[in-house]
Amino acid sequence: MKKAVIIGAGFGGLALAIRLQAAGIPTVVLEQRDKPGGRAYVYQDQGFTFDAGPTVITDPSALEELFTLAGKRLADYVTLLPVKPFYRLCWESGKTLDYDNDSAGLEAQIARFNPRDVEGYRKFLAYSQAVFQEGYLRLGTVPFLSFRDMLSVGPQLLKLQAWQSVYQAVSRFIEDEHLRQAFSFHSLLVGGNPFATSSIYTLIHALEREWGVWFPKGGTGALVDGMVRLFRDLGGELELNAKVTQIEVQDNRARQVTLADGRTFAASAVASNGDVVNTYKKLLGKSAIGQKRATTLTRKKMSNSLFVLYFGLNQPHPQLAHHTICFGPRYEALIHDIFNGATLADDFSLYLHSPCVTDPTLAPPGCGSFYVLAPVPHLGNAPLDWSVEGPRLRERIFDYLEARYMPGLREQLVTHRMFTPADFRDTLDAHLGSAFSLEPLLTQSAWFRPHNRDSDITNLYLVGAGTHPGAGVPGVVGSAKATARLMLEDLQ
Ligand SMILES: Cc1cc2nc3c(=O)[nH]c(=O)nc-3n(C[C@H](O)[C@H](O)[C@H](O)COP(=O)(O)OP(=O)(O)OC[C@H]3O[C@@H](n4cnc5c(N)ncnc54)[C@H](O)[C@@H]3O)c2cc1C
Repeated sequence: MKKAVIIGAGFGGLALAIRLQAAGIPTVVLEQRDKPGGRAYVYQDQGFTFDAGPTVITDPSALEELFTLAGKRLADYVTLLPVKPFYRLCWESGKTLDYDNDSAGLEAQIARFNPRDVEGYRKFLAYSQAVFQEGYLRLGTVPFLSFRDMLSVGPQLLKLQAWQSVYQAVSRFIEDEHLRQAFSFHSLLVGGNPFATSSIYTLIHALEREWGVWFPKGGTGALVDGMVRLFRDLGGELELNAKVTQIEVQDNRARQVTLADGRTFAASAVASNGDVVNTYKKLLGKSAIGQKRATTLTRKKMSNSLFVLYFGLNQPHPQLAHHTICFGPRYEALIHDIFNGATLADDFSLYLHSPCVTDPTLAPPGCGSFYVLAPVPHLGNAPLDWSVEGPRLRERIFDYLEARYMPGLREQLVTHRMFTPADFRDTLDAHLGSAFSLEPLLTQSAWFRPHNRDSDITNLYLVGAGTHPGAGVPGVVGSAKATARLMLEDLQ
């Protein structure tokens, strides 16, 4: 009987597992950690629940589709709660913008920054919607296996001026610098530098306006649990604490995978949801193709890393929005330092997560769970000693939050923990500690990104942030659709 093995239980691996199992292919998922979710791991500590990674859940239709194709309803497994505003954007000047899909309210706020930008924003929204139609709805789940596939989309990319950066595209329509930041920072959520990443990533704005921003009741971990439950209800197997050390290849076919504990799993098809560079470098390092691909991939540009600080307070801080972007004093120069710098900048911009605004059960009564993250360079650009830099940065960030956003923070602190670029490398096996895999540059996207199916090892597939279309929950769930299509064609 045909059997599929998936390495890794991130959102991409789980979405692929559901698709294969629902189509009747017995599927086993092997996850090295003690819990599923990958970057969406969950920490529990003294009654506080901390989602480790994704918190801005967009495109619920892509999630619903996974349940529908299995003959189930998403709502029977997890409840998605709407988040309003989508984000609160705050600048050191004291200006703020609450952004969501209420057009009138949003335009009134834009007018306070610059009345001329209301018309500019409307044009930007129309542009972003056109990009969304093309880049997300039409091409987001199509595997780019040949250069011909890439050439066929050339005219649309030209029409949408995809060679421009996100920031350049926004600046064509919007004059005010605060608003330019407000409508260009989104690519950072998927590891894209707004000054280098293709303007295709402006589609995130249209995507949020189209379907809203959501948060699972019980946290993002509840969504992961729902997907695992669905997979198991369909008869799929998930093994935790199962680190794959090798994919064995014979005659250009993956035959079996071997775990660190020596167990082997024979497979008709193998899909890796693990880090794409290390899939080739470590798991396929004994094969000539693995070595060749690893050499090519290590020359590519990786996305930035993140410094993430999880903390529980004995106060809920209801003055905060669920998602706050705290812009620091510099924008373009800081982003340059994050993507290209050899050390940590003296300043930072932060994303602050306050999930109890939407779901108070994530902390003990009267308390609040939070996390704050700062984008930082990856270990290839800045090989810092994070056992030293981590505690320093933690103190600087706590000082900053206490002074500007969360008075009394230090006195209210019940618990805290950090996740640094070194943890991305050591815990998630992320090449150079990158938080989002390969940087989503135009020259590293679609056909230029590692393909959903290897072109030489004919039953080896990739799923997740390192393949098409790329990082972010909608991205990796979309990659699972593209990869499943190929696997099912090949297996059935
Ligand atoms: C802090 C943070 C915040 C984010 N916020 C958002 C957000 O708000 N919204 C959004 O859409 N996106 C967000 N993202 C991006 C998003 O979380 C990721 O792009 C996405 O979750 C990656 O999913 P993935 O399928 O590629 O797998 P990953 O989550 O990378 O999981 C891969 C899994 O493979 C396992 N694995 C690796 N190697 C092996 C091996 N050899 N054997 C067995 N198992 C192995 C790993 O342990 C891991 O569990 C965020 C990311 C981070 C880090």
